[in-house]
Amino acid sequence: MTTFRAALVESFDADIAVKDVERPTPGPNQALVKLIASGICHTDLHAAKGDWPVLPEPPFIPGHEGIGEIVELGPGEHDVAVGDIVGNAWLWSACANCEFCRTGRETFCPNAQYGGYTQNGSFGEYMLVDTRFAPRIPDGVDYLEAAPILCAGVTVYKALKVSNIRPGQFMVISGIGGLGHIAVQYAKAMGMRPIAVDIADSKLELAKSLGAEFTVNARDVDPAEAVREFTNGGAHGVLVTAVHEKAFGQALGMARTNGTIVFNGLPPGEFPVSVFDVVFRGLTITGSLVGTRQDMEEALDFYARGLIKPKVAECGLDDVADVFEKLESGGIDGRVAIRY
Ligand code: NAD
Ligand code: ZN
Repeated sequence: MTTFRAALVESFDADIAVKDVERPTPGPNQALVKLIASGICHTDLHAAKGDWPVLPEPPFIPGHEGIGEIVELGPGEHDVAVGDIVGNAWLWSACANCEFCRTGRETFCPNAQYGGYTQNGSFGEYMLVDTRFAPRIPDGVDYLEAAPILCAGVTVYKALKVSNIRPGQFMVISGIGGLGHIAVQYAKAMGMRPIAVDIADSKLELAKSLGAEFTVNARDVDPAEAVREFTNGGAHGVLVTAVHEKAFGQALGMARTNGTIVFNGLPPGEFPVSVFDVVFRGLTITGSLVGTRQDMEEALDFYARGLIKPKVAECGLDDVADVFEKLESGGIDGRVAIRY
């Protein structure tokens, strides 16, 4: 048996720990990838804690921002080759045949597999990918820096597209973590006027340095009041990437009449909504889940053209439990990524 080292979730109550696991053999439509880098997303922490109504099955290897080199192809035809650099993603595969896949909404495929959740992910020296879905990584990029585009980047890019906010309009990014600090940059690159909301000053400073026109610390002031005053009536769009449910209720108050609120963040829990407010101000509230393969190609292209630069700190595979602790307490500015 050939083994490799991976950070494994063995139970929702225990810390994630590095173990030797068996190296899988790629099946049809699959490739074995030797990892170079992997971002650590807050979703991996939700997965390890069993935060969501649909649970992964321990033992499993989290991680869905992995980049590596194909070392072996499964049987059959592939449009990638050994030596190609590819990634994994949350959308590990989809069925291609359902109503959602047929209409360009493959992230909502009921038969989809999720990287690092229903399929082992990128917190290990090797991983399997489905070669029909694995993102192709553009030539000449810094792999550690590009890794967060595979989830954080594509997710916020898609959410900004879904908002239908036009160039010149205000877009609040609530939650300036791994997702949010990249969202500020996409919003700016797409011509929107980003406003940043978080509860930590260091994150707001980062947002400002990345192009946020205005920042609000929601711990110190009422963010709805501050945003309405700055924008003269509310922001046209609000994208919530925060990990606390309080931010979701506050998002409605920050929106302009007829504004659109897009939810990316996935804290377990609920938030209050005033029916009157939604009806009389004609608000649109929508969720957005990662992005399609086409969104991924576009999101990576923004990065490859130098319009987006994730702030990435490097760690090793043995540091995942520490990084989880820091994510939990809001102690990470930008993203942390494993270098193999
Ligand atoms: P992160 O921990 O890096 O960032 C979260 C940020 O939220 C931090 O900056 C924190 O200070 C901020 N925050 C906490 N409470 C807040 C509040 N009350 N108001 C404003 N900001 C607040 O996490 P991340 O990796 O950016 O992920 C964010 C969330 O998005 C997670 O719940 C994750 O599961 C989810 N996610 C969703 C998708 C999707 O497809 N919808 C994809 C990736 C991640
Ligand atoms: Zn993620």
